[in-house]
Amino acid sequence: MWQDYDYQANLHVFSWKDDYFAVDVNSGAVHVLDRPAFLLLSALIENNGDYQQAREKLTRQWPAQVVAEIWQEMVDLHRQGALFTALDPVRVDTGSMALKALCLNAAHACNMNCSYCFAAQGDFGMKPGLMSLEVAKQAVDFLIAHSGGRRHLEIDFFGGEPLLAAGMLKDLVEYCRRLETLHGKEFTFTLTTNALLLDDEVIDWVIANNISVIMSLDGRPKVHDQYRPLKDGAGSYAAIIPRIKAMVAANPVSYYIRGTFTRQNLDFADDCRHILELGFSSLSLEPAVGPDNGYAIQAADLPRVKQEYERLAELLLEYYQSGHKVHFYHFNLDMQQGPCLAKRLTGCGAGVEYLTVTPEGNLYPCHQLVGEEGFLLGNVFQDELDSGIKQLFSTCQVHDKECIRCWARYYCGGGCLAQAYLQNGDIKKPHRVSCEMHRKRVEAAIFLDYYRRRGKICSKKQENYTEV
Ligand code: SF4
Ligand code: SF4
Repeated sequence: MWQDYDYQANLHVFSWKDDYFAVDVNSGAVHVLDRPAFLLLSALIENNGDYQQAREKLTRQWPAQVVAEIWQEMVDLHRQGALFTALDPVRVDTGSMALKALCLNAAHACNMNCSYCFAAQGDFGMKPGLMSLEVAKQAVDFLIAHSGGRRHLEIDFFGGEPLLAAGMLKDLVEYCRRLETLHGKEFTFTLTTNALLLDDEVIDWVIANNISVIMSLDGRPKVHDQYRPLKDGAGSYAAIIPRIKAMVAANPVSYYIRGTFTRQNLDFADDCRHILELGFSSLSLEPAVGPDNGYAIQAADLPRVKQEYERLAELLLEYYQSGHKVHFYHFNLDMQQGPCLAKRLTGCGAGVEYLTVTPEGNLYPCHQLVGEEGFLLGNVFQDELDSGIKQLFSTCQVHDKECIRCWARYYCGGGCLAQAYLQNGDIKKPHRVSCEMHRKRVEAAIFLDYYRRRGKICSKKQENYTEV
């Protein structure tokens, strides 16, 4: 139809249960289709826009008049800028972006012994240690110095287990508060913890300082204990559940239960159900990814994983329909607003807006690349960052790689650059297994979003959806 239009890259059609959807990638419009419209659009994509061929295929099953009417509706949607829209060549000037967030690896040590740990049980395969207050303060000074005109700055307390350095963290938050007025900045903090050291004193500190918390829990006791043992090999479930419950009951500014599923518990919807039944409503379950170590999801697992995401979407739908507010991180797409342009094009901002600091003050683009020699950007005690690495990360937008032909590009932003490197040796070469899972999650999110609005569970208007 339109010469040079890339139908495969700019449109996506899929069915979920008895519903049919089309995503017009560049406009972000989502269309709910009836079956003949779904078949016609599928045939158009398959035949790269050749309407005659698509029409011929359809008229074997549907009257020519029906096909012609659908086609006319599609042409009208095109005129309205909601179908067959062109790729926007806009880029974000990430090279000049100021620093926004630091991930402070407060501890390269841990009090647990998780089998799938990406951080080699806490020390990242390096010398174990805790971050000193001196290094942490210097990291904050570095963040302020490189934050340009940004007012809102973020610090993530990470590890290993960051609460092994709880005393330092408390002093550091006070230090940040003192600097806020002086520099016209506002800090927000996130604590990612295995919850073992979440005692009442820590909980009071978290609440008093509006710190968001991410607490690790993999789901059912058997699953959790199998992968997240203590140092002596005993399970950690019984120890952490009362702590997580106490933390959530104290009402933190925001919280997430973060679990991991592996290829050994591909029935992870049951782990999600368990977490919900414990009364936690904000959660995420991340796939273990990486080389074939018995845990990481492999290409052969994808059909089962996709099936399980469907089961999970059904489960969440049940919760929505019974009036529960559940936030499953990966299925929470804001279909009306979506992420900002920079996020749509560049993803997480690693190496550009966001850096990770080790206990020695070394800077890496992201926590998953800590210890990778080729990615050492500098140190918080020096002013300059390695310009080559910075340049590499700032030229890693969706336009710079195969993502430009992926229908999920603006929901994804180009995927995890660290995983791309760790799996393929190149931050610009996405990890295919992760991509397939991500695309399935986006479909699930669209399906759930549509059902929430259609069922009037959510009060927002259905303005993003058109029926064809
Ligand atoms: S709690 Fe985190 S850092 Fe510690 S062993 Fe488990 S995954 Fe690794
Ligand atoms: S990383 Fe994968 S899923 Fe994300 S936009 Fe690129 S190709 Fe698509």
